[in-house]
Amino acid sequence: MGAPIYLDNHATTPMDPRVLEAMLPYFTQHFGNAASRDHDFGLKARQGVDEARARIAALIGASPREVIFTSGATESDNLALKGVVEGAKNSPGHIITVVTEHKAIIDTAKYLETKGTRVTWLPVDGQGLITVAQVEAALTPETLLVSVMLGNNEIGVLQPIREIGALCRSRGILFHTDATQGVGKVPVDVNDLNVDLMSLSAHKMYGPKGVGALYVRQTTPRLRVTAQMHGGGHEWNLRSGTLNVPAIVGFGAAAQICREELPQEARRLAALRDRLYNGVVSQLREVHLNGHPTQRLPGNLNLSFAGVEGEAMMLSMPDLAVSSGSACSSANLRPSYVLEALGKRKDLIHTSIRFGLGRFNTEAEIDLAITQVVEAATKLRKLSPLWELLEKGVDVNAIDWGPEHDHH
Ligand SMILES: *Cc1c(COP(=O)(O)O)cnc(C)c1O
Repeated sequence: MGAPIYLDNHATTPMDPRVLEAMLPYFTQHFGNAASRDHDFGLKARQGVDEARARIAALIGASPREVIFTSGATESDNLALKGVVEGAKNSPGHIITVVTEHKAIIDTAKYLETKGTRVTWLPVDGQGLITVAQVEAALTPETLLVSVMLGNNEIGVLQPIREIGALCRSRGILFHTDATQGVGKVPVDVNDLNVDLMSLSAHKMYGPKGVGALYVRQTTPRLRVTAQMHGGGHEWNLRSGTLNVPAIVGFGAAAQICREELPQEARRLAALRDRLYNGVVSQLREVHLNGHPTQRLPGNLNLSFAGVEGEAMMLSMPDLAVSSGSACSSANLRPSYVLEALGKRKDLIHTSIRFGLGRFNTEAEIDLAITQVVEAATKLRKLSPLWELLEKGVDVNAIDWGPEHDHH
């Protein structure tokens, strides 16, 4: 038994060794404060930051001046939503977002609700998608901002960002997208997508943790973002605090690699993902794909294995690092709200596994994963009263999963 196979690349990605290589001199040799104007130490640090900013801008089709460094996508999402609402004249206003967003958006929008902002929560269809018509129907004269994520972190579904962006632009409404899962994996161009604000994070694209960015369009005159962190006036007064130079340099190197390798890598990952799916469904019955079959991130596969608890599945596959939709994370004692929003049968939510494939996964690993998944599901189904009921055609929707799983 070798090292576990990492298939949880939506949670975080391993750092590319080339990124580490680029970062190392900035810890000890070029350790200066990028804001120091009076000596070479500051200059060297500033040059590293400038180059990184240019590389990130190039990856997303922005100009460097539009890239604001933050501590990650959580902070970028907070800055985008709170910053726009606070910066608006008709604050507290109205914003529109989606029920399947990342918690960084959901909880920020909920916070704004407590401060008087009206929030429209758009529901999704059975595959996790919203439509432009839904957004259009929710627009009001008070609407300040629409925020719709690009690629979902659980089911990988890609929302129609370009079309929603075009609608918002034509109505003069600001548009933000949390593109954390998409940047570096699928082509993302801020002009093509008509976005005014966009969140990204280095550790989801083979860079270091603790650094991200908010893209803030310079050519949208009505775009006012109020800083959430006050201090020395860094990042054009939008985000104060001494820049984390090594991390930013790593972020830039990660962006550069993604930009160079994206087309081949996206094809390779999609092929591996399809190999995993085909390998599993050719050997197991009653495996359900969660999300959209084609409109999804190349590395994402979210499957429900009827009759087997996701947690039990994970315990039976100790060599696979995956995540389960039934997992009770420390922050959330409920099963996946994303799968719930899709209107999935309760038993299928509890039996879901998210496979997140990434740059360092190989075909051999995928073949091993197929074997382990098939073995685990087959073994557990033999022991599963639920599987027996399913095979007899019993309505499993009526099954009580216990109080902690009830949703109100
Ligand atoms: C990971 C993730 C975040 C949070 O990013 P951090 O950099 O870890 O704060 C936000 N949104 C999405 C879609 C994510 O996948």
